[in-house]
Amino acid sequence: MSLVVVSNRVARAKANEPMTGGLAAALLPVVENSGAIWVGSSGDVRDNVQKDPFAEIEPLGSGALAMLDLPAAHYGGYYEGFANSALWPALHSRTDLIRASCEDYRSYREVNAFMARALLRFRKPDATFWIQDYHFLTLGAELRQLDVQQAIGFFLHTPWPSRTIISGVPNHRDLVEAMLAYNLIGFQTEDDCANFADYVEMELGLRVKNGEVLSRYGISRLATFPIGIDVDKFAAHAVKAMSHPDVSRLRRSLHGEKLAIGVDRVDYSKGLINRIKAFDQMLTLHPSLSRTVSLLQIATLSRGGIEAYGHLQEQLAKLVSDVNGLHGEVDWTPIRYLNKGFSQTVLAGLYRTAQVGVVTPLHDGMNLVAKEYVAAQNPADPGVLVLSKFAGAANELDAALQVNPNDIDSMARAIATALSMPLVERRMRWEAMMKSLRAGTIQQWFSDFVEALDDAHAARDGKPIIASPDAAPVWPLRAGAAGAAATSWRDH
Ligand code: UDP
Repeated sequence: MSLVVVSNRVARAKANEPMTGGLAAALLPVVENSGAIWVGSSGDVRDNVQKDPFAEIEPLGSGALAMLDLPAAHYGGYYEGFANSALWPALHSRTDLIRASCEDYRSYREVNAFMARALLRFRKPDATFWIQDYHFLTLGAELRQLDVQQAIGFFLHTPWPSRTIISGVPNHRDLVEAMLAYNLIGFQTEDDCANFADYVEMELGLRVKNGEVLSRYGISRLATFPIGIDVDKFAAHAVKAMSHPDVSRLRRSLHGEKLAIGVDRVDYSKGLINRIKAFDQMLTLHPSLSRTVSLLQIATLSRGGIEAYGHLQEQLAKLVSDVNGLHGEVDWTPIRYLNKGFSQTVLAGLYRTAQVGVVTPLHDGMNLVAKEYVAAQNPADPGVLVLSKFAGAANELDAALQVNPNDIDSMARAIATALSMPLVERRMRWEAMMKSLRAGTIQQWFSDFVEALDDAHAARDGKPIIASPDAAPVWPLRAGAAGAAATSWRDH
């Protein structure tokens, strides 16, 4: 089988640079070892990309990394528009933040269609396509339109919310109908998978039985594949990183004081405002904790061009400064707030230095930081994970101190409890969590999905997948004519 993995962003193997997010971080080591071709955006856009859209193809482990420039005319509407201002908020249950225009939707579809055409270059008879994440919900349907009969799977890294929430996305029916072109649709949690099945039954009127749904594309399987991490690699990084200058400096600066750590992109799904408020509340409720603990919040900036993100960045910076102003002393700052990223190697050492890992998203697909924090701990003296019950990781990490991220008082109490937890309890909880991390590593996730996709495709018994206009498409077809397409999208 020749595997082609597709995602919006790809990652390069640079050990000393931060990862751009969980997807890239998770995929890099497994794709490197699998011999797959990993296709994604180069991050650049071009006006005329019809000829050869690939900017670069370079070796990656035993496979290759292929990066393409996306069409300049549609990039903004696709990325900052429909993907991150309509789908992302909806998938994280923030329908109040949905902003979408017909033009954005059109650009999203155009970029998906563009990617499908570019992928034809990799269409070998034994090819298997594995599409990643919400940027490419409709890529499978576009590939079927181009008569790609090979196996095509899809994995969603974010949550899939309830039917009523997803119905808040413009064109939601078209999108989900198009997703049924995939042979296998994978989710992070059982709840996500059940929400999707519920949508398909109630909105599309299709029957889901034993995790299978029959549509005009044939059978699609729905299943859960919780994404994991390379536990041993993280543990090894953590030990090695203790002598890294950044980690040594951090340790020296603590003067015996305890440390709580948060590591997040500045995103409204991460619950950062409530977390800072909880830390503030803890210091107010327990004045004796003053000078005994500080919070290191690594907060990498992302999607700054989107209004909701710019607003959050300002709000957060002000809140941190207020809390530091209120509780700080001439020689002590309660919150160390950094808008910069670290390589995963250094990050592992920072995690290991902290007695408490605070991972309190309002909603999160998985949250790899939670798993990484656990893997990086010293087995003889492990820290405590305070984890939101709305992170995908909460299903596996039930030995963490689980919290409701909307309940600031109880989060404040949980952080205080974590700080004073006896060693015996810390070890018991940590060992339970490590057991579950080892049972679901990233290597396992990768091979489970690829195997299930192979099975799902083989079960078709070579029956052709027809995506012809006669099959009553619910979306207009495009033949590369932007003008004609524009009319159809508006009419829709
Ligand atoms: N990360 C990193 N350097 C940083 C901050 C984060 O390499 O300074 C990585 C981190 O190790 C993790 C990923 O970025 O693997 C974040 O993944 P997560 O699932 O927690 O959140 P996402 O950003 O995908 O929503």
